[in-house]
Amino acid sequence: MTIATVRGVRDILPEESPAWRLLEESARQIFTAYGYREIRTPIFERTELFARAVGATSDIVEKEMYTFADRGGESISLRPEGTAAVVRAFIENNLHRSLPWAVYYMGPMFRYERPQKGRYRQFHQMGCELFGAPGPLADAEMMAMVLRLLRQLRIDDSLTLEINSLGCKQCRAPYREQLLTFLQGQQAHLCANCRDRLQRNPLRILDCKNEECRAIARQAPMMKDHLCAGCADHFEGLQGLLGGMALPYTVNPLMVRGLDYYNRTAFEVTTTALGAQNAVAAGGRYDGLVAEMGGQTVPAIGFAMGMERLALLLEGKQAESSRRQGYYLLTVGEAATEQGVLLAEQWRNAGLAVQMDWLGGSMKAQLRRADRAAALQVLILGEQELAEQTVLLKNMQDGEQRRLAWDQLVATSGLLP
Ligand SMILES: [Zn+2]
Ligand SMILES: [Zn+2]
Repeated sequence: MTIATVRGVRDILPEESPAWRLLEESARQIFTAYGYREIRTPIFERTELFARAVGATSDIVEKEMYTFADRGGESISLRPEGTAAVVRAFIENNLHRSLPWAVYYMGPMFRYERPQKGRYRQFHQMGCELFGAPGPLADAEMMAMVLRLLRQLRIDDSLTLEINSLGCKQCRAPYREQLLTFLQGQQAHLCANCRDRLQRNPLRILDCKNEECRAIARQAPMMKDHLCAGCADHFEGLQGLLGGMALPYTVNPLMVRGLDYYNRTAFEVTTTALGAQNAVAAGGRYDGLVAEMGGQTVPAIGFAMGMERLALLLEGKQAESSRRQGYYLLTVGEAATEQGVLLAEQWRNAGLAVQMDWLGGSMKAQLRRADRAAALQVLILGEQELAEQTVLLKNMQDGEQRRLAWDQLVATSGLLP
């Protein structure tokens, strides 16, 4: 009997790692350029953190979290998303004294969802959170940053930016009443799921995927037409900035975020690169959350991106440009192997990337392994080379061979392709 992974989780094998690294490195570079610094929060937190930040009655907390009692009897949960821990860290470390505070994170998240193609129970997200910047400038810059990252990764097929305003505490309550009245009149035509959430969360009905519900949603009163003066100013300011930065966008009045804590700006970036129109980034403003979590009143905005989908998109693009690199040392005969180990270390000391053939055997077998390792240069050390203190250098790209003295290799390496 062999032991397999837990259902819904997977390995990222070495063949996939380059795409992940490219994604992580590009994100780090661009987030840093916009003034964000990295934060690394624990993988697990007290369960009550997510109950309060994400909402005790949300699907995530009620049905999807990995929650368990640790050996001391405390209720612990694996993080299902990244924002809650960042807010906790901000409050716990008294960072309201160093506003504005801008951070990014990346790493695994955990949700007990029904496994399906491309969806895993351990998945990865990266995201940014910006605290202390109340104006639409922060919103527009964040969107520009997301689009820049996607374009740099060449994930730019039908890239679409959708924005909406979800209003604030003052203007959302009266709007919610109007919406509820309208939806109650249409109750008979709503899907079972929407009838069920009519009282609890009528806003979510606006983004139901059911065709009949969508037809009703299009007729419903829209938040963007019921904004208070402050929210309307903010939304207009945002659109002015996006226009000024020449970032194409569409206003989607039916886009509501799943989480209650969002206010004002909500945004989503979608692409058709994987076939259907899929979201690759989603975010919004959450000006009330820090105070709700026990901190001071601090405006905030953030977004997250699912990394599995992005890595998948990059894998295809990487294959085109996969390149041979480094040296692969193969030795023939016991004496050559013994000397080869020492030479490889010396060359590495001098900064060369030298991979040693671990198995030996026939030259043919070793060359096949060098090819599979995608080495650019093969170094061959046999009896003759050992006697001459030379090494035979073979370029795997064009097949060209040359003989070099051991101490010449480092001096020549800079000149080799
Ligand atoms: Zn408002
Ligand atoms: Zn529905």
